[in-house]
Amino acid sequence: MRKNIVAGNWKMNTTVPEGVKLAEDVNAAVNAAGELKCDVVVGVPFTHLTAVKAVLDGGKVGLAAENCAAKASGAYTGEVSAAMVASTGAQYVILGHSERREYFCESNEMLKEKVDLALANGLKVIFCCGESLELREAGNYADFIAAEISESLFHLTAEQWANIVIAYEPIWAIGTGKTATSDQAQEVHAMIRKLIAGKYGEKLADDTTILYGGSCKPSNAPELFAKPDIDGGLIGGASLKAADFMGIVTAF
Ligand code: PEP
Repeated sequence: MRKNIVAGNWKMNTTVPEGVKLAEDVNAAVNAAGELKCDVVVGVPFTHLTAVKAVLDGGKVGLAAENCAAKASGAYTGEVSAAMVASTGAQYVILGHSERREYFCESNEMLKEKVDLALANGLKVIFCCGESLELREAGNYADFIAAEISESLFHLTAEQWANIVIAYEPIWAIGTGKTATSDQAQEVHAMIRKLIAGKYGEKLADDTTILYGGSCKPSNAPELFAKPDIDGGLIGGASLKAADFMGIVTAF
């Protein structure tokens, strides 16, 4: 069955004590909220994983890393492997964020390696895709997104696919305050689901969680989440304040 998920992506924000405090606030708010209509995940810097896991342990909030290495282990100074991430107790890893694609030259091919290592280490993958403003204006964003997904994920078996969450994040909407309209987002989400159905069949496509990301906030989340193919959000800026994040979590 398809799950609704609201996941925070803290990016390179907060010191460890600040992150622990934010995680405590989110954890307490989620526990106080009673029955929620979505799973809640916080995506945090590597340095925070163990400390945040201790705060979340036993609670309802899942934990994600924001990246992992494309190599299993060895002489890769500064890298953090999928096995290391899994050993912190994190259940998820965010891969393919547009900031990593742009600033750290992550290709579809490299992301395929990362996805394989994440899954081999028992992590679920929140796989980001999305087009630039140029591609949107040129009108050929569908092919671009299809290539991002197919080149990094379509080698997976149907069984492996059960551990993939897709996050559609139009680059022009990330951190810009410019949200895709709910109709624009729905159009791409439906297209992604159709792409998955073409490869893996209707049932698996229907079971796949597809998140929207890009300037999502409490005020626009209800309209976005009301769309049939939008199953939640990957939240950047608004995940750094527990009250804003909870405003999105409770938007379902
Ligand atoms: C993101 O970077 O994943 C994101 C969606 O950022 P923001 O919500 O700040 O646009």
